[in-house]
Formats: sequence, structure tokens, C-alpha cells
Amino acid sequence: MMEIVRIPTKAHAFIQEQKKAGKTIGLVPTMGALHQGHAYLIEKCKRENDFTVCSIYVNPAQFNNQKDFDTYPDLFEQDIAMVKALGCNAVFAPSHQAMYPEGAGENLLQFNFGKLASELEGRYRPGHFSGVGVVVAKLLNIIAPHKAYFGQKDLQQYLIIKKLCRDLSFQTEIVMCPTKREEDGLAMSSRNLRLTKTEREKAPLLYSVLSEAVLELKSGKKASQVKQKAFDEIAKEPMFKPEYVEVVSLESFEILSGQLTENAAICVSAHLGNARLIDNLLVQV
Ligand code: AMP
Repeated sequence: MMEIVRIPTKAHAFIQEQKKAGKTIGLVPTMGALHQGHAYLIEKCKRENDFTVCSIYVNPAQFNNQKDFDTYPDLFEQDIAMVKALGCNAVFAPSHQAMYPEGAGENLLQFNFGKLASELEGRYRPGHFSGVGVVVAKLLNIIAPHKAYFGQKDLQQYLIIKKLCRDLSFQTEIVMCPTKREEDGLAMSSRNLRLTKTEREKAPLLYSVLSEAVLELKSGKKASQVKQKAFDEIAKEPMFKPEYVEVVSLESFEILSGQLTENAAICVSAHLGNARLIDNLLVQV
């Protein structure tokens, strides 16, 4: 039987019981509208833990764009059927009142993740990572899992959560899972639901441009040239409005411009119709 728990204190007590019974706990935090990318995280979590909890909560504190929050897909019944079929042991799906009794506005605790949050997503989504930090800290305190699973698709988010856990001594091990893609290369995302048929057909361009850029970086071309070419190729397609293409160090997340001498990632963000899409590929040198 899969438990659906909505109240944080009840969720905490329930998970504590499982721990007392000797079970290891894995958590997969999500905002719902689940797809195969989420399923992959849940499957990995199940393999590595005795008891898998999936949280489904659209966190208002991490949305810098009210319209994006208001129109975020809500497929709760379908999500529940999916996680049940995957063999999840419990779902934590709190109300906004339970998570933010005093609201998630400007009086909420703010995190400053320093350099890690100043570029890429941090530049285009002010306040986003602070809101992510708050909700993840809450989830880790409520569930207190041994391991928590995050996707590489949100690479900067993963690094920020690692820092959160290091700097605040959370005992949870943070695990990164590779990005799940559609057959044509498009990174799976709940926001893909917003694409029209024509936009959906164009969407894999991001992956093909990134793949080409990885080859160029590996062949020794300068990062500044490679990222400019990739940006221009996306901008050439009139349906896309690229925000950034950046090559960053995987170690420090600093922007790189020369020939690569360390492991890096190439990251992209672009608007396509009503969706803002992000993707990245790792470049091992
Ligand atoms: P979200 O519901 O979009 O907040 O995502 C919940 C978790 O699933 C995050 O850790 C994401 O990075 C991860 N995730 C989302 N899409 C994918 C994907 N295509 N492949 C792997 N992980 C993903």
C-alpha cells in the first residue's frame, strides 16, 4: 500500500517509524506532472533504498514568474497512479498552508549561494535558487532521508543543493541522475507539455546544438567561440529566443572561455513558445 501524507508532522513521524524498523529512506522531490525522467529517479531510488518517498509540491517560493507558477501543469491523479505503478512507498504532498503558514513572499528566509547562483539560471531567475534552497531544506528536515535524488537536467540546482547540504551539515547524501531524453534528444520536462506540435518538432534543436558543441570543445576549440556559435544557431531559428549558452567548470561553476583543461558542462536556456527550456551536457576532458 502506498501512503499519501499531506501534513509535515505526520510525514515526519511516519518516516521515523520506517527508520526505527531499520529501513533506509530515499527521497525524490518533484513538482508533479511526472514523466519518464522522474520515473528514472524513482526507480534508482527504489534500487538503492528500502523505502522510497516521492514528494509532489509546486513550490511557490522558487517561481520568479507568477504566470509560470499559475500555469504549472497539475496532474495529481495521474501522478499518483504513476508513482503507485512504480512501487513508490509513500507520497508527501503538502498544502501551501502547511509548507508556508506565513506565506512564501518577501518575508521568507533568503539564501545567498554566492558565485554558484550568480550566473546562468541565477541571472535569469532572480530569487529562484533561494526558493529552491528553502523548499529542499524543509523537505530534508521533514523526511530526513538517507539519500535524495536530483536530475542532471537541473545541473546548477544539483550543485546548489550539494552546497546547501555541505554548508548546513544535512546528513542526506545527494545523488545526481543523468538526464532522460525523448527519442529525438529533447530533455524530458513537465514544461514540454506547453509546446505546440510545431514547437515540439523544433525543440530537439537544443540537444543537437549542444551535442555538436561538445565535439568542438573536445577537439580543442575555445569555449568562447563554441558557445557563441551555439547561441547563434539557436537564435537563427525564429521560434527560439535563447537566453544563454555557457560553458562552466564542473568544479567551481565559473564561466570558461578558453580551451578546456578541466571537466566542464555546456548549459543552455531558451524560450520556445510558452515554455522556457533548459538543457546541458557534460564535457569530460
Ligand atoms: P521537477 O518536477 O521538474 O522539479 O523535477 C524534479 C526532479 O526531477 C529534479 O531533480 C529534476 O532535475 C529531475 N528531472 C526533471 N526532468 C528530468 C529528466 N529529463 N531527466 C532526469 N531528471 C529529471
